[in-house]
Amino acid sequence: MKTIDCLAIANRGEVAVRIIQACKEMGIETVLLHSEADEKTLAYRLCDKAVCIGPSPVNQSYLNIEANIQGALSADAEAIHPGFGFLSENAEFARACEKHRLIFVGPRPETIELFGDKISAKKLVEKVGIKTVPGYQGENQETEYLIEECEKVGYPVIVKAAAGGGGRGMKIVRGKSEAFEAIESAKREAVAAFGSPIVFLEKYLDHAKHIEVQIFGDHMGNIYHLYERECSVQRRHQKVIEESLAAKIDDQIREQLLEAAVKIARAGNYRGAGTVEFLQQDDDFYFMEMNTRLQVEHPVTEMVMGVDLVKAQIQTSLDRGPLWTQGDLFPRGHSIECRIYAEDPYQAGIPSTGQVGGIYWPQGPGRRFDFGIESGDEVTPYYDSMIAKVIVWDETRIRAIQKMRKTLQDTVIFGVKTNIPYLLAILEHSEFVSGEMTTQFINKYFPQGLKLNQEVSLDIIEKLKSEVMSGGSVEESSLKNQLQKSPWSQNVWSRT
Ligand code: ADP
Repeated sequence: MKTIDCLAIANRGEVAVRIIQACKEMGIETVLLHSEADEKTLAYRLCDKAVCIGPSPVNQSYLNIEANIQGALSADAEAIHPGFGFLSENAEFARACEKHRLIFVGPRPETIELFGDKISAKKLVEKVGIKTVPGYQGENQETEYLIEECEKVGYPVIVKAAAGGGGRGMKIVRGKSEAFEAIESAKREAVAAFGSPIVFLEKYLDHAKHIEVQIFGDHMGNIYHLYERECSVQRRHQKVIEESLAAKIDDQIREQLLEAAVKIARAGNYRGAGTVEFLQQDDDFYFMEMNTRLQVEHPVTEMVMGVDLVKAQIQTSLDRGPLWTQGDLFPRGHSIECRIYAEDPYQAGIPSTGQVGGIYWPQGPGRRFDFGIESGDEVTPYYDSMIAKVIVWDETRIRAIQKMRKTLQDTVIFGVKTNIPYLLAILEHSEFVSGEMTTQFINKYFPQGLKLNQEVSLDIIEKLKSEVMSGGSVEESSLKNQLQKSPWSQNVWSRT
């Protein structure tokens, strides 16, 4: 039987802390593979062993495959968890782990490869009969030819890097006059960020919601879905607030989405945690991409589903399971996550660095804080500016919004500026509260970040308070009806 006594973490910050916590509870020792900049961090203090794998710039440490492998081997680790970002979706890294007899906590390298290339992923998905955003995914990459294809797709068009991720390498083209420059610059960005100039085109859906399904494959080939998340609140294609379940979704569409996600995971012979991302516009939904890793926003799923996805990943990598039955997996209540960035919300979100002073996380029922910094730590300019995530759970969405507002209002972080005022303004916006927001939300209402003394709607604040008092049980009863119809969930509600 496979075992892991010691697991290396090829990551940093709050996700490294998250993995260390899971390992401690499972009786597994941890080795943190860290850069020179990350010695004064919470993950460094919590891990059992630490190995410095290189200088602060990511390509010399966190993105260096050989340095991570050698670091893990030198500390006698038997497995590597890649977290998210960095090498988490790098098939070459997963292969290098296998070659050195290190268990890679994640999908098989072939699966990472298949879904990592957005073009091959779209082709697979179309083959199993699920709609993808219409566009051009052909081999001819001549800019002039791509412009002709843009005309066929019809403006607005989005140009994307085949190997893309993290919102990079994407350009929206609103008309022919912009096409040449946009395609050329998407190609340049794609080469710089992902080492490949290959791009593809999609119709730009201008009033869509971002809905994604958490799926999981155990080592025996069982595929589960853990319902959906909504991540429509995005800035420059990067998620800011996420929730589970979706804020407002037709029951029938939900059922179709969940089924489609399971079908896609099955087609890819999926193992481990994964996320199938869709854009939903009007009554249609389209596959966008599959992320073959743990997602930043996994806590909202953990809160409503009552599962631990990191432990499930580790168990699966050890061939333990089955972990659940689909019928056991049922959602309860509503969860919201806000990403806390060290940045100045009044200056269009420019990063804020420096030593962190006092921090206070206001604990309470249904509140979770995933953070990677403590008082006295340094926020450096080398890495993503997300320093923490605040997650809340409550019985209904309105209550969860109200709880998040209170939690953020009472959170204190000295030393660096944070986006908390910006998050509060979003939470108090009528379109967010109604659940009708699309991916255009931030562009439409907060294009330049936050203005000083931006007015808040007192009506909304009063509405939130009174709806919390009245219980707001409507959302749950509609879900209950839907679940009773679902083929996967007989007896679900009689268990609660
Ligand atoms: P990445 O892998 O870089 O995160 P995605 O393909 O997941 O990129 O897209 C990120 C976000 O970009 C989506 O959530 C959505 O807001 C926007 N987006 C991507 N494709 C489209 C499209 N065809 N139409 C409208 N918005 C899109």
